[in-house]
Amino acid sequence: MKKDRSRTNAPALSRRSLLIAAAGSAAASIGVLSGFAAGPGDRWDEEYDVVIVGSGFAGTSAAIEARKRGASVLVIEKMAVFGGNSAINGGAFAVAGSPLQARQGIKDSVEQMVEDMLKAGRGLNHVELLRVIAEGTRWAYEFTLEYGVQYKDVVLQFGGHSIPRTLQTTNNSGGGITVPLGKAARNMGVIFRNRTKLEQILQDSSGAVTGIVVREGHRFPDEDSGRLRRIRARSGLVMACGGFSSDVRFRTRQDPGMDNSLQSTNHAGATSEGLAALLRAGATPVQLDQIQLGPWASPDEKGFGMSPQFLQQAAFPYGIMVDIRTGKRFVNEMADRKTRSDAILKHKDEAGNPVYPVAFVAEEGTGESPSLGNALKYGVAHKFDTIEALAQFYGINREGLLAQVDRYNAFVKAGEDREFGKTFFKKITLEKGPFYAGRAWVKVHHCMGGVQINTKAQVIHMATGEPIPRLFASGEVTGGVHGASRLGSCAIADCLVMGRIAGENAAARKA
Ligand SMILES: Cc1cc2nc3c(=O)[nH]c(=O)nc-3n(C[C@H](O)[C@H](O)[C@H](O)COP(=O)(O)OP(=O)(O)OC[C@H]3O[C@@H](n4cnc5c(N)ncnc54)[C@H](O)[C@@H]3O)c2cc1C
Repeated sequence: MKKDRSRTNAPALSRRSLLIAAAGSAAASIGVLSGFAAGPGDRWDEEYDVVIVGSGFAGTSAAIEARKRGASVLVIEKMAVFGGNSAINGGAFAVAGSPLQARQGIKDSVEQMVEDMLKAGRGLNHVELLRVIAEGTRWAYEFTLEYGVQYKDVVLQFGGHSIPRTLQTTNNSGGGITVPLGKAARNMGVIFRNRTKLEQILQDSSGAVTGIVVREGHRFPDEDSGRLRRIRARSGLVMACGGFSSDVRFRTRQDPGMDNSLQSTNHAGATSEGLAALLRAGATPVQLDQIQLGPWASPDEKGFGMSPQFLQQAAFPYGIMVDIRTGKRFVNEMADRKTRSDAILKHKDEAGNPVYPVAFVAEEGTGESPSLGNALKYGVAHKFDTIEALAQFYGINREGLLAQVDRYNAFVKAGEDREFGKTFFKKITLEKGPFYAGRAWVKVHHCMGGVQINTKAQVIHMATGEPIPRLFASGEVTGGVHGASRLGSCAIADCLVMGRIAGENAAARKA
């Protein structure tokens, strides 16, 4: 064991604590800091060139890139299972200019993807990052192929994208990416350690990151469980610890509307302490109140469930969503997520209780939905022979619905949605049953906000505006890329592209 020349930089702590307080995180920080003060002294227990916090898309891709450059790499994960949100994600990956698009005659470009993301993000996006990500999608796609990831032979149309550009893993899950990448990383010699929670980022007197304090043997959610240990990161530290959608306390402080009346699609470990550690190290918070609601979730199941892939890939593109009180549509079912979520949230009765909208599609439109079978099996979707039967089951205004269906069919045939401007990529009407339907509501899904990084994935210091030496971040813990609304399938793009860049740059001192 070597003697640590870097200390916790005690005089700087009060300044950093002030920065955290500014970001609304002081209570969490005080707990962590006092925990560290009782810690194991100033010796390193272990040393690596690159240490990565988080085992999702961003962390695993960073690990592979760092290891390829000869760095010794440790990935820590606080949960018992690896993969975070990435492992439970839907496996939908936006790639600008994929070979699958070319084969189907779909013309796409980096500019068009940037334009779509900017439009959804209401212009809050940090364009230089957006461009790097859109440009990197083709490169990230090939990277996944290299490690054995498999995609279906389809290109999907997701809401807010102007053209079909979304690829889908064959198992319909992000696990179709995290498992092969994790296996490749382990084969290359990356060490993965679960139940190990980041407690604090250590810096020397110049502010350069030297290592971290962890709780090894941590039992989530017991904050104080596990043994405190110090791990040195000789070349770089990559923070890839994801978003905070499951952290009701913190998300409500950013946006009071995100209280526990809303469920989340995220895994339980999507909490804010990694972000707090970054803020304590001086990182700049960006748009923390931009928290996304997924507009395709179901009130009839917990978490992400089976509905999103049915609603997103069948009912919304090829069917309609209606207000049960009128039978009428109320939004372009393929608008960006914020537009749809805002519209759905308005459906409340006078007492403020949700009046869940219903979305449905004819059988012809269900071909791309991977989860319809399970949605039917678990009773979150239902099959009907006629529109009348569907209206009766959900208590939808029958006359209003029948008139709406007639109007919609006429729009599809004419190729123009004169009500809400939805683009019809296929001419699928609601004339011939059977029909498949489910209730829709919103769930807390994604944090667009996080810490500021530059195009090298370096974390930017709040006071100086300069990179914090040897500190990198990627994935959902970073902010600014997606602005006010992330487009579906663009998080995988973001995490893989910036994860690889972070890993490469974190290993640079070693290289
Ligand atoms: C159900 C669901 C479906 C989705 N589907 C899609 C989709 O199809 N396409 C798409 O583009 N996006 C999708 N998303 C969004 C996308 O999955 C996430 O944005 C992405 O997985 C984030 O990856 P990440 O690597 O940044 O973080 P994560 O994958 O969440 O990984 C972060 C890891 O860090 C760990 N961690 C956190 N704090 C600490 C700490 N203090 N110490 C140690 N470890 C820590 C966490 O436990 C976690 O395992 C979906 C999200 C969800 C929840």
